[in-house]
Amino acid sequence: MSRECTAAVVVAALLWVVCSAPAYAAQPVVVRVGDIVQRAVELDGSEVTFEGEAIGEALRADGDSVWVNVLDEGTAIGVWMPDDMAEQIERFGAYRQTGDTVRVTGVVNLACDRHGGDLDVHATALEVTGSGEPRSERLRPLEALVGAIGFACAGAAALVARTRERKRFEET
Ligand SMILES: [Zn+2]
Repeated sequence: MSRECTAAVVVAALLWVVCSAPAYAAQPVVVRVGDIVQRAVELDGSEVTFEGEAIGEALRADGDSVWVNVLDEGTAIGVWMPDDMAEQIERFGAYRQTGDTVRVTGVVNLACDRHGGDLDVHATALEVTGSGEPRSERLRPLEALVGAIGFACAGAAALVARTRERKRFEET
């Protein structure tokens, strides 16, 4: 390689580093919801960015804010956000449809004083990065069946727990 050529390569490499660094810095590190839950003690009070599927529905929190559950690889977290932020979400995941994929930036609260001492995230920014869609018609009966069995099991478990509680109460 000639000296000029080497110099050009070095300049190109330097330019690449200089030019790509700010772009890299502007991209927040996306963490997994599972990591937030596992590292909640360490992340308490810090801002994180994560991505997942909006599921269920936007539940009214107070006057102008709602709760949105964001599911990522089997772990969901409750995200508290203002109404206008939640309005960007068109579809929420359910049996009949998958929810929009949202990228949330927010502050982790290990035991939120404002919301009953639970782990939550207070969103500061939300971006819809993917659209939810209707689930395939063909899969629906199976999913409905699995869902029905799930609900029946949960119902039975709740009944057993309640009966146990009552027994304990009666025994004392
Ligand atoms: Zn909170």
